[in-house]
Amino acid sequence: MDFSHSEHELRWQTIARDFAQREVSPIAREMDELGAMPPSIVSRMAELGLLGSTISSDLGGSDMTSVALAMVYEELGRACSSVRGFMTVHSSLVMQCINQWGNDKQKSTYLPMLASGQSIGCYCLTEPEAGSDAANIQTTATPVDGGYELRGEKIWITNANIASLAIVFAKLPIVDNQKPHGAITAFLIDTSTKGFQRKKMPGKELGHRASDHAHITLEKCFVPSENILGGERQGFKVAMSALDHGRLGVAAGALGVHQACLDATVSFVRSRKQFGSRIGDFEMIQASVAEMKASLEASRYLVYLAAWKKDTGETSTLEASIAKFHATEAALKAASEAVLIHGGRGYSNEYPVERYYRDIKGLQIYEGTSHIQRIVIARNVIGKP
Ligand SMILES: Cc1cc2nc3c(=O)[nH]c(=O)nc-3n(C[C@H](O)[C@H](O)[C@H](O)COP(=O)(O)OP(=O)(O)OC[C@H]3O[C@@H](n4cnc5c(N)ncnc54)[C@H](O)[C@@H]3O)c2cc1C
Repeated sequence: MDFSHSEHELRWQTIARDFAQREVSPIAREMDELGAMPPSIVSRMAELGLLGSTISSDLGGSDMTSVALAMVYEELGRACSSVRGFMTVHSSLVMQCINQWGNDKQKSTYLPMLASGQSIGCYCLTEPEAGSDAANIQTTATPVDGGYELRGEKIWITNANIASLAIVFAKLPIVDNQKPHGAITAFLIDTSTKGFQRKKMPGKELGHRASDHAHITLEKCFVPSENILGGERQGFKVAMSALDHGRLGVAAGALGVHQACLDATVSFVRSRKQFGSRIGDFEMIQASVAEMKASLEASRYLVYLAAWKKDTGETSTLEASIAKFHATEAALKAASEAVLIHGGRGYSNEYPVERYYRDIKGLQIYEGTSHIQRIVIARNVIGKP
């Protein structure tokens, strides 16, 4: 077994680390307070080639391996989950999905614009009555002359207020006692299309404050037939495969948050004194730091194993699910401990750990909650009911 990283991977890690530490970290707290990300962050990511991710250079992409992309996400996640979340949706859920399922025309039309940041993508699956149970979406696509008319609602859609391209999942009329998920179809929609309405997601306060999230209403939104992605009634497969890409991105982002919690904690326990000693000299604090480090390394191997398996071309659904489950749960525990170890200071935004704690909760929920990852893993081990 070879656990070393290639030059290609280390180069992308350096690019992402320099960008994240020099250009994102210094403004992460301000972005969190303002509840917005400056557009310059996106244009800089495009300029550095980060948005091009694993897409081939023929299509304007950066030809990264999945391992290199995971390293990029780890570095971004270490600095700011909102920035990492933006990129995971744009590059993994949207671009990798178009790359996997798009025809030549769709790929050459959309991928270069997305890689250059000229166009921002969003992925619209969740609805008020369908989150974990994605097969139950209620958005409909009615066949009309030359295409389809979409009606429905989507919620929690990351990047949607700034996106010019949306992948929207909707159901065609059910035929021949078909199961509901068999009617789902994926559509590529220009967000300026009449009937595509979006507004800021209300009440999002806990974390990912600098991310953009929208509530979308589709009202007789016309989509031409050629904008179907992956074929009629193939949308459930398209949605699930996109989540495989995205879950790996979220898992790698969680690694970054976990590393940031450890870094902040180590620095704090070395300097904070109580009872005449550095708190890092107390055994209980040492035990906590040791657990944080051990669980971080376990997550890291799971994330890079899943990415490596993806690079070999093998199915990595199970590995991505295990990596997402373990890395987000471990990072959540690390963030909680980091706040505790910072004492009262941990509760204030004078230190970054309270932001890590708020942000990591989102990673445990989106792209399949930890409950759903447990179901994926258990079904794989025990077999489907
Ligand atoms: C910050 C953020 C960004 C997001 N971005 C996007 C996006 O870009 N695009 C998009 O489409 N969606 C997005 N989402 C939505 C997200 O994917 C959903 O919130 C998530 O899938 C859970 O769905 P839900 O909120 O409807 O909860 P529900 O599915 O109603 O779940 C409620 C609870 O029940 C549990 N549960 C559900 N089913 C089972 C079961 N069978 N067994 C055990 N427990 C179960 C869940 O784990 C959860 O704890 C985002 C959400 C957040 C918070």
